[in-house]
Amino acid sequence: MLDCAIIGGGPAGLTAGLYTTRGGLSKVTMFEKGMPGGQITQSSEIENYPGVTGEISGMDLMMPWPKQCQQFGLKHEMIEVTQVSRNSAGNFTVSLGDGTTQEALSVIVCTGSTPRRAGFLGEDEFFGRGVSTCATCDGFFYKGKEVVVIGGGDTALEEALHLAKICSKVYLVHRRDEFRAAPNTVKRIEATQNIELVLNASPKEVYGDKMGVTGITVTMTDGSSRNIEVPGVFIFVGNDVNNGVLKQDDGAFLCEMSDYGEVMVTLSMATSVPGLYAAGDMRIEAPKQVVCAAGDGAVAALQVIAYVDAKLHSQQ
Ligand code: FAD
Ligand code: NAP
Repeated sequence: MLDCAIIGGGPAGLTAGLYTTRGGLSKVTMFEKGMPGGQITQSSEIENYPGVTGEISGMDLMMPWPKQCQQFGLKHEMIEVTQVSRNSAGNFTVSLGDGTTQEALSVIVCTGSTPRRAGFLGEDEFFGRGVSTCATCDGFFYKGKEVVVIGGGDTALEEALHLAKICSKVYLVHRRDEFRAAPNTVKRIEATQNIELVLNASPKEVYGDKMGVTGITVTMTDGSSRNIEVPGVFIFVGNDVNNGVLKQDDGAFLCEMSDYGEVMVTLSMATSVPGLYAAGDMRIEAPKQVVCAAGDGAVAALQVIAYVDAKLHSQQ
């Protein structure tokens, strides 16, 4: 029986691993389906992790994290978790991709979320070289420059407002002439001088050179096309929360979820199920930043230590 099973080895999972093991739990396993480090390892540059200065890639930032955890006894299994369920004793069963299971007194789920891609030409080729899905992460790189934002939902419009404070101009490209975003947000967009609406326009191809993006071609609904010369293209066309492990055999989720598939948590990262915690990008209102995911992991771990302690004492 594990004291704690950690699902996912990004910044949240690794920090949870550090704090649970260093805090005295001896049987903690982190299940990560790929290499530890999480989605930040795709980033060629991160400059907003406190205390880390100079040019550093996401891969370099995350490199020492697993070793630090292992020093304190965190076990790492490189395997996909297929399901987390609760058994009759009030503990958890973690089902693994190879068909085996592990029992745990507590679980911290840290499987993150995945921004959707829009599916236009050059999107993947230029991802991280001018194409981005994170304004908080990359907006500053375009300070005083023009950028394109794609999407018509709340996220696209809120991020366009954020970018308009940093960039000289934001072209908001949306495939229809009506937005999904809240009417108040639409009003704020319309009142922002340096946002130009490019409506009835779908992204066709982003182009550039070896330095990165230099522009994007959009196709209008009347069949015409327009080139917008910008060094940065931000895509906000929806987000998939990696919540599959919480789905039960009957299709319901193990714990309470928001309408958007995020895990509902308290400020202690506790879910609606005792002993089950969620941390990082998959929880409600996640700022989707490495420092925040790491903070969540630490908070959840401190709660788990107290939970496991109480559980073991009650069994004596
Ligand atoms: P993730 O990092 O997504 O980690 C989740 C982990 O869970 C993954 O390793 C995944 O393989 C694993 N996993 C998922 N499902 C399973 C399963 N079923 N079984 C086992 N393992 C599973 N943030 C910043 O602060 N600054 C930046 O500059 C910045 N730039 C970014 C640039 C890019 C290109 C991207 C993609 C993100 C960027 N971010 C940045 C955001 C940051 O990466 C995330 O906020 C952070 O990684 C979230 O951490 P997490 O641990 O919650 O989830
Ligand atoms: P969303 O509401 O699903 O909006 C996605 C937008 O992207 C839509 O406008 C869609 O166009 C467009 N789109 C989708 N695929 C595209 C493609 N391939 N090419 C071009 N455009 C494409 O996603 P979201 O904005 O991330 O919001 C998700 C949920 O979170 C929503 O329910 C939202 O209300 C909520 N949210 C709320 C707040 C808030 O309350 N402050 C903030 C952020 C998010 P169409 O409109 O034509 O489909």
